[in-house]
Amino acid sequence: MSELTGTIFDIKRFAVHDGPGIRTTVFFKGCPLRCLWCHNPESMKIQKQIVFFENKCIGCGECFKRCPSGALEATPEGRVYYRAKCKLCGTCVEYCYAEATVMEGKTVTVQEVIDEVKKDMPFYENSGGGVTLSGGEPTFQPDFCLAVLKASKEEGMHTTLDTSGCVKWDTLEKILEYVDLVLYDMKHMNPDKHKEFTGVPNELILSNLKKMDQLSIPIEIRMPTIPELNDSQENLQALAEFLSELKNVKRIKLLPYHRLGEGKYERLDMDYRLKDLQPPSKERMKEITDFMRDRISERIEVISG
Ligand code: SF4
Ligand code: SF4
Repeated sequence: MSELTGTIFDIKRFAVHDGPGIRTTVFFKGCPLRCLWCHNPESMKIQKQIVFFENKCIGCGECFKRCPSGALEATPEGRVYYRAKCKLCGTCVEYCYAEATVMEGKTVTVQEVIDEVKKDMPFYENSGGGVTLSGGEPTFQPDFCLAVLKASKEEGMHTTLDTSGCVKWDTLEKILEYVDLVLYDMKHMNPDKHKEFTGVPNELILSNLKKMDQLSIPIEIRMPTIPELNDSQENLQALAEFLSELKNVKRIKLLPYHRLGEGKYERLDMDYRLKDLQPPSKERMKEITDFMRDRISERIEVISG
């Protein structure tokens, strides 16, 4: 087994929303997109990051006493963290018994991922589940992503890739050889709006989806539904027309915007730019779902949730 390493930020067992059956989802760190609504901001940078949970801190002072880089300071206003000075040595995490200081991201080998994922093999067999690679963007670490998928297939597991499709086609094509199901994220059909809301245009993403559709891998589209940003009739109509032309798209899942990741932004010293945006109501989601159903090919199931 390859000793290749990659950076992940979580492995979630018993996942039931990341593909069929009971699954283990491996969350890769690093993503080329910067979606305004991202609820996993810890996934954006591939580098590890220190986060601080103020509510867990017992004030023992071990973290700033032990920091060798002067990146932590005790002030009358509380603990101050100088991210630019931090060398990510992990000493503060090691000595924080309250688990208030945490390292987001860890380096793992392919074998370590497979060992963890294999623990639930009996559940996969009984439920039709398997392993899902998500993120972040798994293809942002292409060699590691490929090696984990290949090793998963060698173990006889069903594999799902959750991707934004923002990767060179040659790279994606090689990875897809070991993928049984693709969860493909769509954010906006208009290239300028796509760039405004995610930081990248959508031409490559749309072109990769068309090429992927030529292979015989089933595809499920996932669209985060963000009020005022991508839920206009014009955008939904364009999406329905585009997807209706594809033959391997089996389903579109509309994911209502939520703010559950907002607190993470503060802990990572990042701005949450959708502070005033409220999630869509159930009625609004039903309206959008019905609108899509009326316009998309009958071959494609439309669900929300
Ligand atoms: S990771 Fe190391 S350098 Fe960074 S704050 Fe903690 S102890 Fe200091
Ligand atoms: S080591 Fe942990 S609990 Fe102690 S002061 Fe630092 S963050 Fe708080």
